[in-house]
Amino acid sequence: MPTSHYDLAVIGGGIVGTAHAYHAAQVGQKVALFERNDRPVGATIRNFGMVWPIGQAPDRLERALRSRQHWLDLAEKSKFWATAAGSLHLAYQADEMEVLTEFAELAGAQGYQVALTSSQKVVDYTPAVKKEGLLGALYSHTEVNVDPRQAITQIHAFLGEQLGVDLYYRHTIREINYPRLHTAEQSWTADRIIIAGGDDLSTLYPELLAQAPLQRCKLQMMRTAPQPNNWQLGANLAGGLTLQHYAAFAQCEHLPALKARIARELPTYNQHGIHVMVSQTALGELTIGDSHEYDYTPSPFDKQAINQLILDYLHRFAKAPDLEIAEYWHGVYAKMMNGATELILHPEPGVTIVTGLGGAGMTLSFGLAEEIINENI
Ligand SMILES: Cc1cc2nc3c(=O)[nH]c(=O)nc-3n(C[C@H](O)[C@H](O)[C@H](O)COP(=O)(O)OP(=O)(O)OC[C@H]3O[C@@H](n4cnc5c(N)ncnc54)[C@H](O)[C@@H]3O)c2cc1C
Repeated sequence: MPTSHYDLAVIGGGIVGTAHAYHAAQVGQKVALFERNDRPVGATIRNFGMVWPIGQAPDRLERALRSRQHWLDLAEKSKFWATAAGSLHLAYQADEMEVLTEFAELAGAQGYQVALTSSQKVVDYTPAVKKEGLLGALYSHTEVNVDPRQAITQIHAFLGEQLGVDLYYRHTIREINYPRLHTAEQSWTADRIIIAGGDDLSTLYPELLAQAPLQRCKLQMMRTAPQPNNWQLGANLAGGLTLQHYAAFAQCEHLPALKARIARELPTYNQHGIHVMVSQTALGELTIGDSHEYDYTPSPFDKQAINQLILDYLHRFAKAPDLEIAEYWHGVYAKMMNGATELILHPEPGVTIVTGLGGAGMTLSFGLAEEIINENI
């Protein structure tokens, strides 16, 4: 039964808000989740669905692995598809192999579950890799795929039906004066209020958010139709450009040489922040991306030239029965520009803002939310 007072009110039905609602409801709190749309349609349904511990910096790995376990548990409880597919980072250039080799040497002691693999052995993990010119690869055991569109729908249903969370769709929270929160027509009170509004930086506490080192980033993405004959990708794939994108590899002394070569040889890729990864959904579609364009007001119009660059690079390392694109879209997230993995603010006692998870929101949300709900952070 909807009520007017809650232990916790969460604003934002994307993965960050949903993860907070989940952890609080799990420990018996009475929770309300407010979402301005009929369902979440932000970054949370527009991503690859990759839970990606391999990309996280060593000091975030434990959080990512805890998150991963929550994803697998929730997939069972909420009945959505999740597969522990692992990942392969592929090396076609000597400097890419050097970064992967160096990372593999450091990684074991840091808790990453990785192994170098030879070009002959990649077929053990996937049929999709082009062997010509392949020098080797790094296999990581920990990556999980979900279909984000399916997963968030199922998690919300589980929260509502099994954990007693009150879900308020089409409810935009316009104002907070703790302990009260208000839409245009209605008010509630809550002992604790968490704002997880994603890249909305202008509705609640806009002056405070304007002072944070947050930037909006637009990413272009694509998806094929289901692959024929139940063809399976196996491990998620990443090409050499990805090594300059994720924090995990920033510790490698060989990275600057790789970056210098890419800056020389592929300046247009850097200009659009492109790196190329592939995952597969339960239906067999391949999800392919992405680019990174930083702008407070991202252009609503996608650039075909960017999609073409992504596909050109994909063809360097991947093959699949049907790479014709069936869907194009873009997503926008808010990212911390100072290297932090999230923004946590306390605009007034009892109110917490959580945003800025950038490209790792699917990977880190359940771990981060657990820490925030248990007040360990
Ligand atoms: C193209 C793309 C690919 C990505 N790939 C990956 C990946 O593979 N792995 C990974 O870990 N991460 C990935 N990410 C990042 C990840 O998707 C985001 O970090 C994450 O979804 C952010 O979640 P969120 O809940 O903060 O934001 P959102 O999903 O945007 O949710 C915020 C919600 O809050 C609601 N809202 C805002 N203000 C209000 C208000 N005042 N009242 C009511 N509702 C409100 C909005 O309607 C929205 O639904 C990717 C992102 C993109 C865009």
